[in-house]
Amino acid sequence: MKNNLRFKARLNLRLTFILLFLVTKLSAQTDAQYSIQAIKYGTMNFQGDTGSPRIGVTFMLFLLKSKDKTILIDAGFYKTDMLAQFRVKDFISPADAVQLVGVKPNEVTDIIISHAHLDHIGAIDLFPNATIWMQRKEYEYYTGLAWQTEGNTGGLFWSDVVTLVQKNTEGKVKFVDGDDVEILPGIRGYLGGRHTYASQYFKVDGSPAYVLACDDAPFYRLVEERRGGTIFEPTDAESSKKAVERMISLAGGIEKVIPGHDILIFEKFPTKGRVATIR
Ligand SMILES: [Zn+2]
Repeated sequence: MKNNLRFKARLNLRLTFILLFLVTKLSAQTDAQYSIQAIKYGTMNFQGDTGSPRIGVTFMLFLLKSKDKTILIDAGFYKTDMLAQFRVKDFISPADAVQLVGVKPNEVTDIIISHAHLDHIGAIDLFPNATIWMQRKEYEYYTGLAWQTEGNTGGLFWSDVVTLVQKNTEGKVKFVDGDDVEILPGIRGYLGGRHTYASQYFKVDGSPAYVLACDDAPFYRLVEERRGGTIFEPTDAESSKKAVERMISLAGGIEKVIPGHDILIFEKFPTKGRVATIR
């Protein structure tokens, strides 16, 4: 009898351990559900205040993959008149860039747009099956008021906007409404950097979590100096700085804030050719 009780107690203990093990394992899996890669598809000479020890703008795609989702953070651009205007070098089409990591363009399930500038939405038509996620206010402004006389279309290309509207008529655009919103499981959007009318940056959950700053902080030095990117209007200066502070605290450390255009990403993370693996 005594032996039997002891056996049962031991069995219970063992079952508890197995259960604990499974729970930890499962939660670890949902934590680290997306891999994160940066794929470089072009560069541009740029003499502006990048704060980077390497002068220049790197155009890259951020690709997030889970079991059932293949997500781009912004689509990049490819139209030849734009490439010529910015004298883009070392260029490959975003459609070819994703294939470097074994993804076909029609396998991209979602594109989450940080903002409407031409180098971020210009290639949405290369990924025919993707649902496009965008801040509602960003969409409304750049498909409407921006083109009125009091509006601001800096960094926009009219034909990208036409494509965007067409995507919406096809039911392919989904709106994100406001700050600190979960867009897809484990990916949240945040406002406040105001690089454009309603630009957003993102936190990708997992261990470790990362913040993708996009153009709200496009270079490491701007993150380090808590400066943020170029802003929509001068009154956004304070909010842009605060956004960088918030990125650092959301990421749980400055080294986990990933800027949107900095070549140094390809030195800080394991890199093969054009592809840096962040996680
Ligand atoms: Zn931009």
